[in-house]
Amino acid sequence: MRAFLSTWRRRLGGGLRTAWAEVMPPLCPLCRCRPRPAAAAVCDDCAAALAGLPERRCPRCGGARDGILAACADCLHGSDRPWEHAVSAYAFRGLTREAVHRLKYRGDTALAPLFARSMAAAWERHGRGAVDVVVPVPLHWLRQVRRGYNQADLLARLVARQLGLPCESWLRRCRRSAQQAHLGREARQTNIQGVFACGCGPRAKGRRVLLVDDVLTTGATLGEAARVLLTAEAAAVSVLTAARG
Ligand SMILES: [Zn+2]
Ligand SMILES: [Zn+2]
Repeated sequence: MRAFLSTWRRRLGGGLRTAWAEVMPPLCPLCRCRPRPAAAAVCDDCAAALAGLPERRCPRCGGARDGILAACADCLHGSDRPWEHAVSAYAFRGLTREAVHRLKYRGDTALAPLFARSMAAAWERHGRGAVDVVVPVPLHWLRQVRRGYNQADLLARLVARQLGLPCESWLRRCRRSAQQAHLGREARQTNIQGVFACGCGPRAKGRRVLLVDDVLTTGATLGEAARVLLTAEAAAVSVLTAARG
């Protein structure tokens, strides 16, 4: 009897949701003023305005790659990036930049599923090699309390669900640091050194980690986080971000 009632409750709920979606089509989470097709994450105008990345990408950093070279000039000249591969969903400019700022600084967490869906799709298309576990770049606990959430953690959990992988908060910030966005390339490197610790004991050993953050700019933050995971004997670290600067 209970199973019969729960089946009918589910059917009724699904039917009401469908009927409601026909009366009130869902709004686009970016412009909030146009209904979007039920199957799409955003309306057509916003989908066209989100800054895409080129199809031909450097497998090491996820940036543009010219000619027949296997990687971009930066990576070929030995930039200090300890991860295997980096993939991003969008270029960090225009509407994408605005949307990342809304997610990160203005509490617009409704944008996380949109980014996570694009990130999972980008990883499935451009990612190389298998991964075992998704790990977010952490915020310092004080910053997380003030903000109320960690955007990288939201993205990592949703991406993990899409990719059918576990999500583990193995990293923590052991000291506060100035915000990277306000610093130049060299200052970012100094600012982030020694900021992370791995609180996972022996669990990272031999695991292939997909490290998730909102934006890859110089790679200083992701590089430092990857180094800590490799010191904890992770077998490999790759990087997935919503946007690439
Ligand atoms: Zn829109
Ligand atoms: Zn590169």
